[in-house]
Amino acid sequence: MNAVLQAEDNPQRPLFERLATNADALRATTAEQRVAKIRRLLAAILGVRPAILEAGRKELRLSPTDLDAQLLMVKAEAEFICKHLAAWMAPQPVQGSLMTLGKRSYIQYEPKGVVLHVSTWNAPIAEAFVPGMGAIAAGCAFVLKPSELAPHSAQVLADIVASVFKDDEFAVVQGGADVATDLLKLPFNHFFYIGGHAVGRIILRAAAEHFATVTLEMGGKNPVVIDASADLAEAGRKIAWGRLANAGQVCVAPDYALVQASVADAFVTELAQAMRAMYDAAGTGFQESADLPRIVNRRHFDRIKALLDDALAKGARVELGGHTDAEDLYIEPTILSHVTEDMRIMQEEVFGPILCVLPYTTREAAIATIRRRPKPLSSYVFAKDRDAIDWFLAHTTSGSTVVNHNLIQSGTNPYLPFGGVNASGRGRLGGFATFQECSNARSVVEDEYPAGDPNLMFPPYSDKYKQMIGKMLAKEIKLPDAAINLINGIIKTTSVFSRAKH
Ligand code: NAD
Repeated sequence: MNAVLQAEDNPQRPLFERLATNADALRATTAEQRVAKIRRLLAAILGVRPAILEAGRKELRLSPTDLDAQLLMVKAEAEFICKHLAAWMAPQPVQGSLMTLGKRSYIQYEPKGVVLHVSTWNAPIAEAFVPGMGAIAAGCAFVLKPSELAPHSAQVLADIVASVFKDDEFAVVQGGADVATDLLKLPFNHFFYIGGHAVGRIILRAAAEHFATVTLEMGGKNPVVIDASADLAEAGRKIAWGRLANAGQVCVAPDYALVQASVADAFVTELAQAMRAMYDAAGTGFQESADLPRIVNRRHFDRIKALLDDALAKGARVELGGHTDAEDLYIEPTILSHVTEDMRIMQEEVFGPILCVLPYTTREAAIATIRRRPKPLSSYVFAKDRDAIDWFLAHTTSGSTVVNHNLIQSGTNPYLPFGGVNASGRGRLGGFATFQECSNARSVVEDEYPAGDPNLMFPPYSDKYKQMIGKMLAKEIKLPDAAINLINGIIKTTSVFSRAKH
């Protein structure tokens, strides 16, 4: 098919071709050049802070402080990359082995090429730039498709990127599912996706067509387990903050609480008190709080309200809140008790400011409730009893876990890669992890100082070679790494001397 016809069949193809053509030049860039780009990008982001705050206010009625926290995440990520990039790009020597004596083995990270990111709306700036900066660091060309559910942020993202990059290096393509569908037909080398499960499957299928690698950051039902030994007041405060931040529209937010039955009522009291103290200290109602965001749109509002209505119809009891206001896209901070697993609210991710509290009598029963659901992105346990913490860690799985807190694992420590497991995601983001997702970890062996007879292993096989393989198969090879390093050193030295002689 000629280039003109190709351009007509997919409106995004010309952009893709520009990026693919430039990929080789980007591959050749130095750490210094990439760092300079990331610094320019960070300056551009911080330079439009008022526009970012305004977009977040319009979309979610987010407080400037919440948005500044998101900017801080981006800034920390940029600074971390700038500090470490030269070391990540350098060859990473690995330990030699008996079978690679005399050889130099190392990993060289090289850019995968052209990367697409289909992003979401709940923290659009950080969600765009954490993958974006990792791709620049790795020397890739990058296309960002922001969520149409955060259109003001999408425009700000497009303006920032256009002020720093030409669109053969980093481009923002705005639009909805139709635009994403066109982009997904193109042979990108790597896909990032942040969003829900249904589209996650679409991304995986598209990646299969191109044998592209994929980083999926999805959500799910994150459990928080509260053992009777926990400090209930502290747990209540921390979980109130974790559940209500961004009005519950946070992928790592605790989705439901499993509380040891003997302390369930006391925990609900502490949680309700903490929610009021944070968002209704004056007693004028949660809706008046300047810090409580709104639901992103009517579709999500209706979705959350339907979960609440279904739970109430099936017997759930409101311990706090329960009111909604469609005009204002407002859902009151809500605690539900008497929740059962047949309720939709226990089957779907809530992604809103409602916490279900379910008492448990045995640890086994609590774990069984978690295991009946897909593996969560995050899980939390509150306990003072070390045995309870260890038991929980040993019997559950999740992308991340925090003990005696929540949310603090995300975007806070670039040494701690972030991601999910199975239905909650694959791959990792943050710091070196994002760089790795955008890189091919190329294994290189250099036959620098050949040891022994280089023809030994070639056919026709000698008896010596057959015996050697036979011995190695028969016995456990106990040569310590230090011995291998010593032998390699001797081979190298001998080789250097003999070369010098000739
Ligand atoms: P969304 O509706 O914005 O969709 C995400 C992206 O998918 C958008 O860019 C959208 O245009 C695109 N899209 C929609 N339909 C598509 C289609 N048919 N084909 C191709 N692309 C399509 O986001 P959402 O799904 O409402 O996001 C919320 C979910 O994201 C929650 O489950 C949350 O837990 C999860 N999330 C996860 C993380 C994480 O880091 N793990 C972070 C934030 C949100």
